[in-house]
Amino acid sequence: MTVTADETAQPAIAAGPHQTPCLVIDVDVAREQYRRIADAFAGAHIHYAVKANPELPLLQALVAAGCRFDVASRAEIDLCLAAGASPGDLSYGHPIKKSEDIAYAYARGVRMFAFDSEGELDKIVRHAPGSSVLCRVLASSKGARWPLSRKFGCVPEMAVDLMKVAALRGLDPAGIAFHVGSQQLYPERWEPSVATAAAIFTELRESGISLRILNAGGGFPVSYRTPVAPISAYAAAIGAAVRRHFGLFTPSLMIEPGRYVAAPAGVLYTQVVLVARKSYDDDEPRWVYLDVGRFGGLAETEEEAIQYELSTVRAGPDGPVILAGPTCDSVDILYQHAPYDLPLDLAAGEVIRILGTGAYTATYSSVGFNGLPPLRTVVR
Ligand SMILES: *Cc1c(COP(=O)(O)O)cnc(C)c1O
Repeated sequence: MTVTADETAQPAIAAGPHQTPCLVIDVDVAREQYRRIADAFAGAHIHYAVKANPELPLLQALVAAGCRFDVASRAEIDLCLAAGASPGDLSYGHPIKKSEDIAYAYARGVRMFAFDSEGELDKIVRHAPGSSVLCRVLASSKGARWPLSRKFGCVPEMAVDLMKVAALRGLDPAGIAFHVGSQQLYPERWEPSVATAAAIFTELRESGISLRILNAGGGFPVSYRTPVAPISAYAAAIGAAVRRHFGLFTPSLMIEPGRYVAAPAGVLYTQVVLVARKSYDDDEPRWVYLDVGRFGGLAETEEEAIQYELSTVRAGPDGPVILAGPTCDSVDILYQHAPYDLPLDLAAGEVIRILGTGAYTATYSSVGFNGLPPLRTVVR
């Protein structure tokens, strides 16, 4: 939980003021999160989704703990290998890849690839012959705070056909993948896709093709301002769904947590640039402009989807605020509808800590928008 990251981050602030904005990552917290999810999903292969946070020391700690990886680019492959991962533990899970990137992965020993269309399957046949493939099926993102919509996955009938093609063309048709949307709050939302996958397994078995891997993706949520169910609730729901729909033909389970592992490990230090009142009406909330915003790492505040917990050095009394980022773009507002309160005497120059920011922050930080540098990261 964020509390741990927060507490362990204290020595860093005591050691000297950080130049803000700055994301501090506590590798121990990420390792602990990995242990929790690996324990909850005992026997499953855990592939950390590197895009959540690709810092080398974090990857090294995960390699040492026995974690595998879900990668989506050459750079992520190189990082995992540099961190000591063996190529056999990498899954190239992005269903949209350039041919040369598939060839690059193959040359480095990666042998598991995802696809969701005939065109992509073609590329894998040509550039990664004989590899294991996972076909990604469409899944509903309902209930997810950060949905993945219709961009990835094909319909089940197409998955059946494409897996037959994969087998005919010398690939190893290994399994079915899906992703129910990130920060998926409801454990029961995995079941419809587990059922879909089970039906595909059955249909292919009747054609003499035995799939073996069920990749239930990521989406496992963390507590931001609102507590979520423990990871064991998600493991129990998925386990029950697998038993219900697969019966005797138990697949090997694979999951790809990103946010769950990385988010609690990060604390983002930001500074108040300005506290402004826009009228003489005391009932209007103050505007608080921070030195980090939508383009500097807080992309997931779009539509106020992810509501981070804030922590100030001093305690209240508090009053309502609208929080905004530092750029000249007017969409660079973090929270104007969600209620946020900060000390009434908050002033420019004060440091605010944004908790639970280890995932999808530095990686989403735009490079140089409005002359502001990308988010700096310090790993402890
Ligand atoms: C981003 C991603 C993940 C991680 O999702 P989280 O919601 O962070 O757990 C897993 N698998 C794939 C294919 C992804 O693209």
